[in-house]
Amino acid sequence: MAFIVAIDGPAGSGKGTITKIVGKKMNLINIDTGAMYRCVTLECLNNNIKSDEIEKISSILENIDIQLKKENGKELVFLNKKDVTEEIRSVEVSSNVANFAAIKCIRDKMTPIQREMGKTQNIIMEGRDIGTTVFPNADVKIYLDCSIEERARRRYKQNLEKGIEQTYEEVLKNIKERHKSETERELSPLVIADDAIYIDTTTLSIDEVVEKIVSIIKDKIFN
Ligand code: C5P
Repeated sequence: MAFIVAIDGPAGSGKGTITKIVGKKMNLINIDTGAMYRCVTLECLNNNIKSDEIEKISSILENIDIQLKKENGKELVFLNKKDVTEEIRSVEVSSNVANFAAIKCIRDKMTPIQREMGKTQNIIMEGRDIGTTVFPNADVKIYLDCSIEERARRRYKQNLEKGIEQTYEEVLKNIKERHKSETERELSPLVIADDAIYIDTTTLSIDEVVEKIVSIIKDKIFN
């Protein structure tokens, strides 16, 4: 079994940025499971499938091909061989993904794919249910948290950099709605695993969080 680091936490807690940096420093393959749920959501939206049309969703899932690749140092996401790295971050996907991610057949398809990725390579995997459902025996489990307002501020800034037009209030509303549905859903809700190390990133810099996690991983490897 490979070495597994599980990073869970809500949207805007810094998971994506921090996981990438720690992965690079510690030579771990970085896997963004949110990108996988975003791909399924995009495919459903492109086919005008709503989140209550379970049969149609199941049939989409039969042939869906999601690939997370690293090319020239860039993390790219391919959906059925098409590069959707930017498209899966659209406002439309972000507003709908929590509804799709709550569906059983979608989680039942994604979870085994994610487990398979940790069989042969050392990984750092980020999401909502990695330390609880996907890898309950992960070597290191981290839960990254942050105040909801700071999370919205971070996402708003990221969106501006990417040219996504949304006001701060709209971003805050989306983050609040997603948080509610992710923490209250029946399947794999966002909860802090009993054995996870909790880090509140609200007032910490990216470097400070990275340093903490790198030292936790080193402790685990050398002890
Ligand atoms: O991490 P990101 O915000 O890109 O994830 C998009 C959505 O995918 C989340 O809002 C959540 O609803 C869902 N998700 C999930 N389980 C994961 C990763 C993401 O339900 N392991």
